[in-house]
Amino acid sequence: MGRGVIRLKITYESWSDPSTDFIVDDEYKGALNLLGWAFEMYGEELVYACSFGIEGIVLIDLISKVKPNAKVVFLDTGLHFQETYDLIASVRKKYPLLKVEMKKPEISLKEQAEKYGEKLWETKPDRCCQIRKVLPLQEILSQATAWISGLRREQSPTRQSTNFINKDENFCSVKVCPLIHWTWNDIWNYVEKNQLQYNPLHDQGYPSIGCQPCTLPGDMLTGSRAGRWADKEKTECGLHQAKNQ
Ligand code: SF4
Repeated sequence: MGRGVIRLKITYESWSDPSTDFIVDDEYKGALNLLGWAFEMYGEELVYACSFGIEGIVLIDLISKVKPNAKVVFLDTGLHFQETYDLIASVRKKYPLLKVEMKKPEISLKEQAEKYGEKLWETKPDRCCQIRKVLPLQEILSQATAWISGLRREQSPTRQSTNFINKDENFCSVKVCPLIHWTWNDIWNYVEKNQLQYNPLHDQGYPSIGCQPCTLPGDMLTGSRAGRWADKEKTECGLHQAKNQ
């Protein structure tokens, strides 16, 4: 996409489908142009919800090229691997201007256990995700017009129709997805070429890293989300379950 092609501000309320205006024939498969456009369009009203997985590391590096002081939010469920928290500390050092917010749920793990029983992620994972991820993100997005997500079409059948700019029915927002055309190999090539630090759990066979109780090693060759909620039918945490995944 040539920057400036879409001049009207696209919001959830004034939605009109802009995806046909984008081209992907540059080395970033459209990602950098899209990010440039999005920060120009939304400024401080654009937030990146980052899980600090491998796509997140790539996106943060791309974002730093167009908006070094972008807002990044991490949904801190209190259940992440120590490696993830360590990585966030390193990212903060490498990109000191980035505004990283650790967004916590309204209730602590102790309060959750008292109210719903121990290990809610085993008994009712949807409710656990709702409390610890969906509601906190809802609160963040109530203050924003658009958000950035690292979804890639290749990741799962439910993500194949994701566009660069999506009407997000889940959060009544606009979801900007710069990496939709990137393959698993593209992601790793970028990481290697730019010598980016990443979560060491990837080297232990985890393609997708979420909360510790719900993440097992998966298929590192394809980067599939196998390994998340591995023994359950659940495949999404609720952040991307709208019609427009
Ligand atoms: Fe709870 Fe698991 Fe969802 Fe994390 S991923 S919020 S532990 S159900």
